[in-house]
Amino acid sequence: MSETKECPMCGEAMRLHESQTLEHVPGTSQATPRTVREWRCPECDYFEEIEETTRRSDGD
Ligand SMILES: [Zn+2]
Repeated sequence: MSETKECPMCGEAMRLHESQTLEHVPGTSQATPRTVREWRCPECDYFEEIEETTRRSDGD
């Protein structure tokens, strides 16, 4: 599955970029891995983070 999106700055086709980041949990020394997805334009370095629509809050 390859999605594309047009860059609002220059009209170039942006690419979906996925990266993992560690998000620290407030009050603890723990960090939970989080996948960040964003559109990146190869022409002008414009990027746009994609907000996750499905959010899960694991209590535990
Ligand atoms: Zn662009």
